[in-house]
Amino acid sequence: MTITDILHKTDLNKEEIKTLLSAEGEDMKKLFDRALQVKLEHLDNYVHLRGLIEYSNICTKYCLYCGVRSKNPNFTRYQLSDNEVIECAKLAHELGYGSVALQSGERSDKEFTDKITHLVKEIKKIDNGSLGITLSLGEQTEDVYKEWFEAGAHRYLLRIEASNEELYYKIHPHDAKHDFQTRLNCIDTLLKLGYHTGTGVMVGLPFQTLDDLADDLLFFKQKDVAMVGMGPFIPHPDTPLWEYRDQIPSAAERMELTLKMIAILRLMMPEINMVAATANQTVDPMGREKAIAVGANVIMPNLTPNEFRENYLIYPDKACVKDKPDQCQTCLDVRLAAIGHRVLYNEWGDSLAFRKKIKDKR
Ligand code: SAH
Repeated sequence: MTITDILHKTDLNKEEIKTLLSAEGEDMKKLFDRALQVKLEHLDNYVHLRGLIEYSNICTKYCLYCGVRSKNPNFTRYQLSDNEVIECAKLAHELGYGSVALQSGERSDKEFTDKITHLVKEIKKIDNGSLGITLSLGEQTEDVYKEWFEAGAHRYLLRIEASNEELYYKIHPHDAKHDFQTRLNCIDTLLKLGYHTGTGVMVGLPFQTLDDLADDLLFFKQKDVAMVGMGPFIPHPDTPLWEYRDQIPSAAERMELTLKMIAILRLMMPEINMVAATANQTVDPMGREKAIAVGANVIMPNLTPNEFRENYLIYPDKACVKDKPDQCQTCLDVRLAAIGHRVLYNEWGDSLAFRKKIKDKR
């Protein structure tokens, strides 16, 4: 089968996915062109925005790749006040972003979970519930996920990080706090509760193979998720995986591999939402635009007050740490217009895949 034949299938098997992951030169360009074509046919040239609020870098976990892991003493821990969160959300509304994403280090104590319930309800009060709310707050119990859903959150992002259990334990400690099965169960619970559920992986991790990456894509398809976020792994000096920084693909290779992952997934799941992660832009100044041009359709501009941003460094040299939100907006409009896309303002921007799934169930 030729590359062109493979590119016109939606039910790709593992071998076909691996062929596409290995594509170079002209073949890679064909993959990217086809992915863009599929996206435009199904979703048009719109990009949805989520105003990102990095609520807190206090974390009880110590994932081996993440700069905000609890065992890193090298920066100040913060938690935004209720007022700061509401002000960020109001700004998202004023800027026409249509929705916000609340992300944080992982805590599951009641003080934290109650606080989130309160904040979700407060954000919902802005202009009578006009903002969509995505949460990205790690593993929680079913009751907590349910409470947040009932409070008004309707989307949840929980990356599986690596769908191969063996690889998972190479990038996380193997203990009760970092249990692969628990993370999987959380994704299933979110799906069951009716969240627009998003997952994803880092690309270019130490020990990660093309087989792993192909299986990750098949995992997303099998779970029938509504959203996927994939970005290049970026080694952080204060983490255990820093030690392997010379054993991973170069930054340019990790970027290219991420773009291939996005493009292939767009062929496999034409109607899901896919985010052009900030990590792309960190590795390549045009990284987000490149991701949009090969199939991604969501961008998460950062709304965290500037004084806190430099303490939410899950990876080093994060892009846009110094930008002001209004600068960010003009910058995005211009950058996206340059690649033939436009921002869809004042909409929640739910995934078409999810909307259709709900309709089918009725
Ligand atoms: N605590 C939340 C949010 C984590 S931060 C949760 O567990 O879901 C969001 C994402 O950043 C993570 O899911 C991870 O995939 C990514 N990330 C963390 N460290 C990274 C690194 N060093 N390089 C690239 N991406 C990273």
